[in-house]
Amino acid sequence: MIGLFVAGRFAPNTDTNSVFAQPDITLWLASVTGLFSIFALTFWRKQANYILGLVAYILLGATVGTLVALTGNAHSPFVALWLIAGVFAGLFGRWVLLGLTVATSIYVVLWFFTATPTPEWQDIVLNILVGEAPLLASYIIWHQRTVQDANSTRAFSALEQELSQVANKSEIVINSIADGVVAIDQQGAIQLINPSAQDMLGWPKQDTIGLDYKSVVQLTNQKGEPIPDNFSPIRQVMVSNRPVTNDNLTLVTKSGKKLLVSLVVSPVIGRDGQASGAIAVFRDITREKQEERQKGEFISTASHEMRTPVAAIEGYLGLAMNPQTATIDDKARLYLQKAHESTQHLGRLFQDLLMVSRAEDSRLVVRPTAIDATVFVHEIVESLQPKARDKGLSLIFKPGSPDTDGNRRVQPVFYMYADPDNMREVIGNLVDNAIKYTKQGTVTVDIVGDDRNITVSVLDSGIGIPPEDVPHLFQKFYRVDNSDTREIGGTGLGLYICRRLTEANNGHISVSSIYGQGSTFSVALPRLSNDQAEDVISAAPVTQPSSAMAPAFAQPATAPAVNTSPTPPVTPQQ
Ligand code: ADP
Repeated sequence: MIGLFVAGRFAPNTDTNSVFAQPDITLWLASVTGLFSIFALTFWRKQANYILGLVAYILLGATVGTLVALTGNAHSPFVALWLIAGVFAGLFGRWVLLGLTVATSIYVVLWFFTATPTPEWQDIVLNILVGEAPLLASYIIWHQRTVQDANSTRAFSALEQELSQVANKSEIVINSIADGVVAIDQQGAIQLINPSAQDMLGWPKQDTIGLDYKSVVQLTNQKGEPIPDNFSPIRQVMVSNRPVTNDNLTLVTKSGKKLLVSLVVSPVIGRDGQASGAIAVFRDITREKQEERQKGEFISTASHEMRTPVAAIEGYLGLAMNPQTATIDDKARLYLQKAHESTQHLGRLFQDLLMVSRAEDSRLVVRPTAIDATVFVHEIVESLQPKARDKGLSLIFKPGSPDTDGNRRVQPVFYMYADPDNMREVIGNLVDNAIKYTKQGTVTVDIVGDDRNITVSVLDSGIGIPPEDVPHLFQKFYRVDNSDTREIGGTGLGLYICRRLTEANNGHISVSSIYGQGSTFSVALPRLSNDQAEDVISAAPVTQPSSAMAPAFAQPATAPAVNTSPTPPVTPQQ
């Protein structure tokens, strides 16, 4: 309209019916509408909303309506503008459409009464049509859309509300959690880090998002050596799709401070079933570990110190009971005998406590060497023969013993790779338990081997173990508590120590049992070939603090090769 006006200035012979001839008022209205629209589009684009659009549209309607009204109504050369503008009224909803329809109708009625001469009926019909037709068309076009839009808008806003509620809740939980949480995508970039993780690691959020996790979550082992990426729990989770838990890692903060952490990394499984990222949750356990170490040190020192006076008491009691060194009556002997037994029990308890505290602090001494299993185990069994005999049990060492036809079995030489002191403790304990928990019958010790493992099994015809107790047997201080065991003394530490020692020697311990019929405990240890054994024996003995330095050929033992008992073997729990 402004363009036409400007063009009209240069047009010759502008008559009143020409498109170039516009009333001034419409020019002003057109200018206001144009300026408002440009302003809204330029400066309020971001907030552009329904109200701005409506104001612009009302201004446009007023401009076009006025123009048409002042230039001949239905005969105006600008009728097409009204028709076009009117069609869009429905975009602003039914109330705007209704308002416009009412305004147009009022205008037509007013025009009818004020026009001179009074309009012909065809003229009236034409004006009504021109005025209302675009509004009717607008209703038909937009009504359908409005209904659909209203439904989808309602559904959308409900969903939006729900999602934002869920997102808010998750954010509140993640942000208020005391554990550090870091989310890592498939490429290893950090996507989320909660405030606890930021505090622990000393990395602010803005510096970490999008950064490779290795720069932020720096892990080292207990010796302070950095964990290679291939062995990093986060990488392992991405590759294996399985959660990984580790309580023995150190986290190095941005300032180089070292924190002992308990780390749990879980995979985020994508739609294709593959890990699309990982969530690492870690907790600072430096204080707990320190307290644990202090407790362990206290138990270790206390047991060590108390063993000396107990040994002295035991010695003096032995002297008191010896007829060559002391003269006592039978009653006193009986009391002293009981005191002697209790002292021995106390001594064993201290010994066990010492061993447990060593195992927990990773201070177990493991000096593996090649052991001829048959000779070694036979010696242990022989040392326990008197105990079995006292109880009226037959203790059978199966390798090399005559079979049912009286033929001696030829036993191959089995070399196992383990610490002899540790194994004496383990096998001795198992045979001792078998004697202790068997009222009558036999205890049989056997050795079998395959290419990789040697398995020593101790089978008894004793009281057996209830199935519900079996999974807990190798836990610290666990004792089966029933009428069969109540009279039999013990600490509940023996099997725990057996497990720790076996594992420290790269071995595996298991049990199978039938309650009331007997049990079989098996220890599987890495086997050495005869050549390997000779090499180990001929080499100078090496003092090794841990079995981690075992030669490459000493593979960790898997589950025992042979199980003589009908129930499946049970792998110890922590
Ligand atoms: P302790 O014998 O000192 O109680 P252990 O750790 O050696 O502790 O054994 C734990 C428990 O396992 C025992 O209390 C006993 O109930 C059960 N147990 C161990 N060996 C046998 C066995 N050969 N037969 C039956 N029960 C056994």
